[in-house]
Formats: sequence, structure tokens, C-alpha cells
Amino acid sequence: MGGPAARWHAVGVNRPEILLTVAPELRLFVPSERREGRTALRTDGTSTLGHVVESLGVPLTEVGRLLVDGRETAVSHVPRDGESVEVCAVRRPQRVPGAPLRFLLDVHLGTLARRLRLLGVDAAYESTDIGDPALAARSAAERRVLLSRDRGLLRRRENWAGAFVYSDRPDEQLRDVLGRFAPELAPWTRCTACNGLLKEAEKGTVEERLEGGTRRTYDVFAQCTACGRVYWQGAHHARLEAVVDAAVRESGGAATRHG
Ligand SMILES: [Zn+2]
Repeated sequence: MGGPAARWHAVGVNRPEILLTVAPELRLFVPSERREGRTALRTDGTSTLGHVVESLGVPLTEVGRLLVDGRETAVSHVPRDGESVEVCAVRRPQRVPGAPLRFLLDVHLGTLARRLRLLGVDAAYESTDIGDPALAARSAAERRVLLSRDRGLLRRRENWAGAFVYSDRPDEQLRDVLGRFAPELAPWTRCTACNGLLKEAEKGTVEERLEGGTRRTYDVFAQCTACGRVYWQGAHHARLEAVVDAAVRESGGAATRHG
């Protein structure tokens, strides 16, 4: 039992090799050679499991349980040689304790923001790009779940919470977010333009904001308490109604009905 075994042991300690399995839902994030079954991965011996997973491209916001040799383990664990690591996807519906469920969307998700608001979900969004540090700071200050397709943005430590949006199509994005967080729906209660809450409005109080045709045709109005915009059951209503009905149906119909 001479030198070679001792040297092998030393290498093993310094650069452990682990066996890695990534959940099917997370395979889009990792290099193609790691998408099937278990693969061997050499780590640096000092990085935490969280760092190892993140450096493979998987945002930690998307990771549920981390199993090391079958046991649930913290992200702070430093992997040891020979360990089997299983990276599970976050469980749906995901509970976000610590604040009412509310969101902050990055600059590319304007359509999704308007659809969430249509359903009464609190969805902050700024149409100008305020930059990643400012977005992360707002997520922290207002305790909002940051929604993004930008993995770099989701990695920022200041974020209060975050979630990757898996599709680039607004209808699938909406299904993704509603399925993941199961927010309480309250359709027609929020301003799609500014996220403010709507209140019922008397025709007389909003009349000067209306065009002639609208004034004659409609009687049911709501007004945004934040920006003053007036809503009525107008030309786009049927299309929006379809979006709302589909979302309410898919979420199990547990919505507060307004308007
Ligand atoms: Zn408004």
C-alpha cells in the first residue's frame, strides 16, 4: 500500500467526484450532456451544493429538494467524493410565506403583467428597463416574487423571491404562473394599466372622461383608484372575458366574482 493509493486519496479529497441527477423539469437549464440520467461531476471541494447547481445553469429559485444519497440536504452542504446528488424541481403549487403573494415582472413580461392584473393578481411592472439592481432592490423592499426569463437576474442575492418563466408565449406564461403559485383570483378588480385597485364608479362622476359613443352605450363603470382610468364593458370585453374564464376554469373556479 504505497504512494499511488495515497496520492489518489489526496486528489479525491481536493476534487471530489459526485454523481448528479437533474429533474426532467430542470434539464433545459443544464448542458446537453447532463440531461439524461446520472452523470459524474468533479467539484472543487470547497463550493457548496447550491453553488455547484447554480454554476451548472440551474437558478436556485427553480430547485426544490436537494437529495444527497437519498437524504434531503441544505444548499450549504459541500459535496464529498462519491456522493449521489439528486436535484429536484420546486413543488407546485409553491407556497411563498412571509408576505401576501405579489409579483414584480421584468421589462420583457408586459403582456403577462396585464393578464395577471386582469385576474386581480398584484403584478408590478415598469415598461422602462430600470436595470437588474433596481429590480432586485424593489423585489426585496416590497417583498415581491420577481418573475423573469433572465437567469442572471434570478441569481441576484437581493431578490426577496423569484421564479423563472418557462415560456415565451403569454398564454403559456399565464398558465405557468397560475399553476405554480395558485394565486387567489379576483377578476376585474385591478387596473391593467397601472396595477391599482378599481372601484365602482357612477356614470355621472366619470362622464367627462368618456367619448360620446361610450357615454351613450354603457352604464357599468369602474375607475382606477390610483391613475383614474375608467373601465367599462367595451369592445375588447369578449376577448378579455375569454382569458378570464379560461384562467378561472383552470384554477378550479375558486375566484371572487366582481363586475
Ligand atoms: Zn390605474
